[in-house]
Amino acid sequence: MPLYDFRCPEGTVFESTFPMAMVPDSMACPECQQQARRQMSPPRLSIAGSAEFRLIDSTKRSAHEPEVVTGRTGAARQATRYTHNPLHQKLPRP
Ligand SMILES: [Zn+2]
Repeated sequence: MPLYDFRCPEGTVFESTFPMAMVPDSMACPECQQQARRQMSPPRLSIAGSAEFRLIDSTKRSAHEPEVVTGRTGAARQATRYTHNPLHQKLPRP
């Protein structure tokens, strides 16, 4: 349900949620009980760019375009030396 802003004549601003078809033009202020009018307010799109949004986006994208992993990322892989015999250095490598 959308969140709507209301402002009473005293200047108190409060929020309330309503179904879009049932939102009133005014409602009673919780502090002074006067009729508070509904205000225009910008949509809250702040989820874009957040970690939550990136996770949802990458999860949806990976369902259709799985990421291909071609190797280890980060440091280049180094061969482990098993021997120190210099003759073994001349052996063919795979
Ligand atoms: Zn008020």
